Amino acid sequence: MTRRPLIAGNWKLQNGLDASTSLARAVAAGIDASTKPEVVIAPVFTALASVATVLRELEGKTVGLAAQDLHWEDKGAFTGEVSAPLLTDVGCTHVIVGHSERRQLFGDTDERVRRKVEAALRGVLTPIACVGETLEEREAGLTLEVVLRQLDAIATNLHDVSRIVLAYEPVWAIGTGRVAKAEDAQDVHHAIRNRVRELAGDAVAEGMRILYGGSVKADNAAGLLSQPDIDGALVGGASLDASQFLAIVAAA
Ligand code: PEP
Repeated sequence: MTRRPLIAGNWKLQNGLDASTSLARAVAAGIDASTKPEVVIAPVFTALASVATVLRELEGKTVGLAAQDLHWEDKGAFTGEVSAPLLTDVGCTHVIVGHSERRQLFGDTDERVRRKVEAALRGVLTPIACVGETLEEREAGLTLEVVLRQLDAIATNLHDVSRIVLAYEPVWAIGTGRVAKAEDAQDVHHAIRNRVRELAGDAVAEGMRILYGGSVKADNAAGLLSQPDIDGALVGGASLDASQFLAIVAAA
């Protein structure tokens, strides 16, 4: 089966309104109907509505809009939180869930990540669900154990596994300039796909897009994206520069 690659830019807590709308315009300018991968950008919450307007006004530009997180409940007494229906309302198509910064700094456990993925699916958003090991876990030889445990937590008993996108993001490679060797990343992606096969069957496993994330740049993207089980990239730092990001899109 051929899987359409997906390149997603995680803008983190970097750009305000003006910078986000300008960057969205610059990215969209490089995308047209012939662009092979699906392209998604994830600005800060406060810029989502404005970026959605920019993307809507650019006819023929099909850039998806992602939030960087969401709450697992749709509504209620959850001060400061944002829910799937609100993200859909504002024009989001995707949401990043379980990013390692959320897991490490904001207490997102496997169970919370699972609930957030369910909430995204209920809200008709495509979750980009992240898994990945820390450096200590890697050095202890625990990469697959950790990654597959995180995957099991997300995908077991999920009502529609086929609607998720997975992202393998080794924590030691995020924002560090240390990129995983393409063959090593491929091995982990292959193991992830095999586990999806066990959990949800052949068709879902073959259709599942598994992105790599961690210091992807214009000059290393082609090597990673040429691996058979790497179906795209979740890009942090390099997504803040339209020309770098578009070069990664072109490599897919
Ligand atoms: C990320 O934040 O998901 C990420 C992969 O960051 P970077 O590309 O900067 O390593």
